[in-house]
Amino acid sequence: MIESNPLKSEKSLLLKALLSFVIVSGLSGVVFAQSYTTARLADGFDIPVGKPNGDGYYVYRGFSPNGHMGEDWNGNGGGDSDEGDPVYSMGNGVVVFSEDYKRGWGNVIIIRHAFREKNGQIAFVDSLYGHLKVRSVSVGQQVTRGQLVGTIGTGPYGMYAAHLHFEIRKDLRVGMRRDLYPKTYTTYHSPRTFIQTYRRLRHEDRIVRIPINTFSKSNPNLLTTAPVSVEEITERSAAVRPVVPEEIETVIEAETSTEAASPEKSKSIFEKLFQKLSE
Ligand SMILES: [Zn+2]
Repeated sequence: MIESNPLKSEKSLLLKALLSFVIVSGLSGVVFAQSYTTARLADGFDIPVGKPNGDGYYVYRGFSPNGHMGEDWNGNGGGDSDEGDPVYSMGNGVVVFSEDYKRGWGNVIIIRHAFREKNGQIAFVDSLYGHLKVRSVSVGQQVTRGQLVGTIGTGPYGMYAAHLHFEIRKDLRVGMRRDLYPKTYTTYHSPRTFIQTYRRLRHEDRIVRIPINTFSKSNPNLLTTAPVSVEEITERSAAVRPVVPEEIETVIEAETSTEAASPEKSKSIFEKLFQKLSE
């Protein structure tokens, strides 16, 4: 009598599952290799500049769904007077992104925080610190509430007046792909509202599991990418404009959307960009 080997069939089931996962994730175009790390549970959250209450700073441009996905924090001194000022982690957590992303962003840090919701469940948020002059933490590093993570900067090519662009995301998939997710409260928190709500949490001194590698790497809805044809410039003449890099799209999207579009500001952004391009 021949019996089927239960171990073997279990193995093949596992293989099948693994294979279908690879196929499905391959088809959807999303590269997820989610895993876990640990970090200390947050005991509350603070404003990331002028710690802990934002003393000496004000919000120049606030959060607005489908408009501005975060808050722009500026020093009371105006202009670039806050350039180089310290930026602190809003709470305990772990660094999940630290990169000079260029485009409209420059240096960006994203920190993932675990905190206890009012209903007792542990929830997660990402805090994002953009346009930094320097980054002083690296991916995988655990940080505590109020720890220095970088300094206020002027963004790539020095294209903005110095300020901190600060976001809080509920959706841990966003990362640098804001374009893939709704620009609403489904995806984001209004930063000051979130901080006010969770300012003081019970101090539990507890280490918890934090999901990592959750960022979407490509557009799951984008099945084909048609090549973009660009006419070749064979002759350089004064009449030929320099090739506009793709960054410009992001710049426009990030900093010249509705509220941002004060004419003087847009003008200076474009002047700087074109100056940069013609160098
Ligand atoms: Zn901003």
